[in-house]
Amino acid sequence: MANKLRIIPIGGLGEVGKNMMVFEYGRNALIVDTGLMFPENDMLGIDYIIPDYSYLRDKADFVRGIIITHGHEDHTGAIKHVIEELNAPVYATPLTRGLLEVKLRDAKLLDKVTLNTVQAGESVTIGPFTVEFYHVCHSIPDSVGLGITTPVGLVVHSGDFKIDHTPVDGWVTDFTKLSEFASRGVLALLSDSTNSTKPGWTPSEAVVDGAFDKVFRDAPGRVIVATFASLISRIQQVVNACARHKRKMALAGTSMVENAKMAQKLGYLEVPEGLLVPIDQALEMPKNKMVIMTTGSQGEPSAIVGRLATGRNRQFDLLEGDTVVISAHPIPGNEEMVARTINRLFQRGANVIYDPILPVHVSGHASAEEQKLLMNLVKPKFFVPVHGELRQLHQHAALAREVGIPVENVAVVENGTVIEFTEEAMTIGERVPGGYVYVDGTGVGDIGPEVLRERENLARDGFVVVNLVVDRKTRKLAEKPLILSKGFVFVRDSAELFSTAAKKAEVAAFNANGQGVARAVEERLSEFFYTEMKRRPMVFAIVNEV
Ligand SMILES: [Zn+2]
Ligand SMILES: [Zn+2]
Repeated sequence: MANKLRIIPIGGLGEVGKNMMVFEYGRNALIVDTGLMFPENDMLGIDYIIPDYSYLRDKADFVRGIIITHGHEDHTGAIKHVIEELNAPVYATPLTRGLLEVKLRDAKLLDKVTLNTVQAGESVTIGPFTVEFYHVCHSIPDSVGLGITTPVGLVVHSGDFKIDHTPVDGWVTDFTKLSEFASRGVLALLSDSTNSTKPGWTPSEAVVDGAFDKVFRDAPGRVIVATFASLISRIQQVVNACARHKRKMALAGTSMVENAKMAQKLGYLEVPEGLLVPIDQALEMPKNKMVIMTTGSQGEPSAIVGRLATGRNRQFDLLEGDTVVISAHPIPGNEEMVARTINRLFQRGANVIYDPILPVHVSGHASAEEQKLLMNLVKPKFFVPVHGELRQLHQHAALAREVGIPVENVAVVENGTVIEFTEEAMTIGERVPGGYVYVDGTGVGDIGPEVLRERENLARDGFVVVNLVVDRKTRKLAEKPLILSKGFVFVRDSAELFSTAAKKAEVAAFNANGQGVARAVEERLSEFFYTEMKRRPMVFAIVNEV
C-alpha cells in the first residue's frame, strides 16, 4: 500500500499563536514554523507557552528540515526549544534567518544548527518534499508562503498573509506563482484564518502613513510610538514619517533595537543618514523634533509603555504634552490590559492615539474577501483552515463553502488531529498531543495545570501559615498553634477569626493523634475559612518537634 501524506497541526489551530505544523510521509517529517504564544492574564508567572511537540520526540531521526515562514514570534519563538530536541537544517529567507540567528545566539545554539538561506521564488528539496517559497505581504518583510510538492500531490501553505497592492516595501504577494500552482493542480490549501470573521478587505499598510502624517504634524511635543518589536514594516513607516516631518527617531527596548539593527544590516530597513539617534541624545533634543519608537503595545506592565503608564520607567518619564501612538491591535485576551494602560497614559497627561481613533495600525492578515481570492486563485481540492481560534477556523470553512469547495472536502481540526491524504482522498486520523508547554523562567514543561491552579488560588485568596509545635514523645501539641496570613483578610480586624481558627487547629491536631497532623490541620482550617469567609486561602501547617 502506498504511503499517505500526514499533516499534523501541533500548534496554532484552535488558538492564536504558537504555530507549528508537521508534514509526514513514511519515515520523513518536515516541520513548518516553531512559534510561541504569550500567556493569558490568568496564567500567573508564565513567561510564554510553546507547542507540545512530544509526538516528534521518538521520531527525531525522521525530521529532515524546519521551515520558518516569517520572523514573527508566533512562528519563530520556540526555535531554541525545538532545535535542542529535534535538530535539523533550518530554511528561511534572509530577514527571517537574521531574526532566528539573534535567538539562537542568545541560546548559545547558533553553531549547532545548519541555517539555510532561501529566497522567495526558489525551491529546495527536503526528503520526499520539494518546497517552493513564494512571496506574501504581511506586517514583516520577507514573508513567504509554501508550495510543497509531496508524493501524493501539491499542498499550498499560505503562511500569514494579506493581499496589499501598496505594501511598505512595494513587493506584492506573488499572484503569478499562485495561479501557476492552480494550473498544476493543488491537492490541498492550508490558509491563515486570523481575520476570517472580518468581512471585506484588510486596508493597505499605506493607510497608516496618512495617520502617522496627521499625528506627527499635529503633536505639540514628543511622539512615542508603541508596536511589536518584530513589526519591521511599521518601524520603516515611522522612519519615513520622521523624514517627512523633520523629526529624529530613537529606539527604546532591547528587542526592538536588535531587530532593527538586523533588518538594517540586511537591507530590509532603510534609514536616512543621521535620522536615527541614540535615546540619551534624543532626550536632550527639542520635544517637537523627536519620536521614540518602543514596545509595550499590548499593555505589558514590564514593557516600556507599560512602565511609562505607571511611572516606573528608568530612562525617561512621560511628560505633559507627549503623544503616545499605540500602533497595534490588542491580541485577543489583552484588550483589558491595553485599555487600562491607555487610561493611565491619559491620567499622566499624555494624548493617546490608537485605532479606531485614527488608523495607526492595520492588520497584517487577510480578511474574508482576500481569503476567498486566495482559494479562487489556487483552486484546491481540499481545504484546511489554519492559524486561528476555533470560531475563526469555522468561519473560514464557511467562506470555503461560499466559493464552492464541497463541505466534505473541508477539514476543521484543532491541534493534534492528524489529517491524512492520498491522491484522491482526505481523512481524519488519530489524535496526538497538541497542548501547552509552559515556559517559566528557565524551566520548560515543569509547570502543569496544578501549579497554575495553586498560583491562581494564592492570587485570589492569599495564604495562611499555621505553626504547630509538637512534643516528640507524647505527639501532643506543646504550644498553642500560631497563625500568620498574607493576602487573606485584614489581620487587625480578624483577631476573633484567628483565635477560633487556632482552637480548631488544636482540636484537629489532637484528633489526628500524632498521625498526619499537618495534613489534618490544613484540611480542617481550609474548611473552616471557607465556611466563615467563603474564601479558600492556601493553608500550610508546619510541624516543629520539641
Ligand atoms: Zn505573522
Ligand atoms: Zn502568525
